[in-house]
Amino acid sequence: MSIIGDLIRDSRKIVVKIGSNTLSNDKGAVNMEAMEDIVRQLSQFLIAGKKVIVVSSGAGVCGVGAINKWHRKEDINYKQALCAIGQVELMMAYRDLFGAKGIHVGQMLLSRDDFGDSMRNLHIRNTLFTLVDEGVVPIVNENDSVSVEEIKIGDNDTLSALTANLWGADLLIVMSDIDGIYDKNPKEYPDAELIEEVYDIDGLMEEIDARGKSRFGTGGVITKMSAARMVNEYGIPLVLVNGTKPDILNKIANDEEKGTVFFGK
Ligand code: GLU
Repeated sequence: MSIIGDLIRDSRKIVVKIGSNTLSNDKGAVNMEAMEDIVRQLSQFLIAGKKVIVVSSGAGVCGVGAINKWHRKEDINYKQALCAIGQVELMMAYRDLFGAKGIHVGQMLLSRDDFGDSMRNLHIRNTLFTLVDEGVVPIVNENDSVSVEEIKIGDNDTLSALTANLWGADLLIVMSDIDGIYDKNPKEYPDAELIEEVYDIDGLMEEIDARGKSRFGTGGVITKMSAARMVNEYGIPLVLVNGTKPDILNKIANDEEKGTVFFGK
């Protein structure tokens, strides 16, 4: 059993964030095979008596796949329209896949405002707890079609951290298309080593800044680390795994694959 395997085994309330890259194929359509595999893994959690909230990206990319136009449009109204279209595709896929296992799903679309308002916070909590207590899997995404820049959370790493804190989760699992955090950009440096445990996010961030963000490739790593900092403050560990690899959670538990876990100090 690995450290991440132990964490998963010992956690009862788990938020799982699934990134767009994990869910879509290179044509921008829903990658049903990958999604099916993830849903199968999450169903195993439920069978094991765990409670699961999914935070899923993919509305934008599924919108492009569904309507097959507007992908070059930069205007916010088109981006929001694409998300409105794609969110339906995404939810249909989740409904079918979880439905095949006899599990219901519920959609919750949230924006930054919702987390800042105590009354809305209460209602979000009540709905989440009710869904989860009744065995329904909440699928959370940002309410992209109403979120303009000023009220946007902007990325679902942050949304998943806010959700984990609000729910009082035991663990946040972030599924992305990278194996974890490396000491250097693995795409440029074949000798890059995976950092399996992080206790000092600030130190790690400084190191990355000192070496230049570009050497790590994406800002995606930065939002994951700041999401980790947010949940770690509440005592919740964040595990970063490569959701594009089939059966990743079992493989990590059996030490056949690796990921990065952030514990905080
Ligand atoms: N809410 C966006 C979507 O569903 C994704 C945001 C993100 O990828 O972090 O397309």
